[in-house]
Amino acid sequence: MEKEEKGISRRQFLTGSAAIALTGLVTKRVFSQAKDSPSSKTGTRLILLGTGGGPRPNKMRNQSSWVVLVNDVPYVVDCGEGVSRQLVFANVPLRNLRYIFITHHHSDHNLDYGNLMYNAWVSGFKGRIDSYGPPPLEKMTKLYLEMNAYDIDIRIPDEGRPPLTPMIFAHEFSKDGLVMQNESVKVTAALVNHPPVQPSFAYRFDTPDRSIVFSGDTTPWDNLIKLAQGADILVHEVIHKPSLTRLMVRIPNADRLVEHIVASHTTHIDVGKVAKAAGVKTLVLTHFVPADDPSLTDEIWLEGAKTHFDGKVIVGKDLMEI
Ligand SMILES: [Zn+2]
Ligand SMILES: [Zn+2]
Repeated sequence: MEKEEKGISRRQFLTGSAAIALTGLVTKRVFSQAKDSPSSKTGTRLILLGTGGGPRPNKMRNQSSWVVLVNDVPYVVDCGEGVSRQLVFANVPLRNLRYIFITHHHSDHNLDYGNLMYNAWVSGFKGRIDSYGPPPLEKMTKLYLEMNAYDIDIRIPDEGRPPLTPMIFAHEFSKDGLVMQNESVKVTAALVNHPPVQPSFAYRFDTPDRSIVFSGDTTPWDNLIKLAQGADILVHEVIHKPSLTRLMVRIPNADRLVEHIVASHTTHIDVGKVAKAAGVKTLVLTHFVPADDPSLTDEIWLEGAKTHFDGKVIVGKDLMEI
């Protein structure tokens, strides 16, 4: 990979300038959706970084990722592709990275796990990263660093960066219970039902001013309902079952895929039953499947979720702050 700011030919520079100009336009538009820099904010904030479900990149929604900011410290939940850039768009400085939580090891939740830590490092990160998730998180961390050792080993002396490996601490767990706790946050995990990916987890964040639960990927599941009891916000995955037949026409191998989706996810009707049973105040829909069907309006998702749930329902969008 090319080093930063060195050896750029005139042609590359011009191409780069055009790319920057174009990105500038896009950035300006998206920035207007995100709130101001979090540098002076206190309390607990939730930003949806990616609300699409499934491994196939699409134009409408980024892959799964959310960030809880507690007194400006980011707690990133899941690392679907594009998480680093979404954090930049959300005005969360990558050099502030501190905690990462992975719900389960499907690529739409972990593809950029290593890349996020790497991108934080090249953005000036100098502290410590603690990551949490089911096995094989430790092996994945080790292999990522090994795979990128050539580049990392060059940048350490050449750009004066600290060694990356000693800064990362991966923590694996396979059971329900307390995952981590510090003076601001308590994080609890609960096993959910997402066959054949086991273990798969939901996470609950309790802070002094808010409680936020992330379902991860799951069918309606009692253990999640227990974890989410009385929470302020439940960020829950959702599928629109009637639209899966349209997905079958567009995607090769879709019949097998549809079988998996129905057996391991939660419909836009059932998600309301889960929110009601958990007694949460607000239900935030995320991990939309299909992720890129333009005929699925907000009203369709809302109407389904509200069938059984009287609380507030939010149709999640990338870079939405809640
Ligand atoms: Zn998923
Ligand atoms: Zn999954």
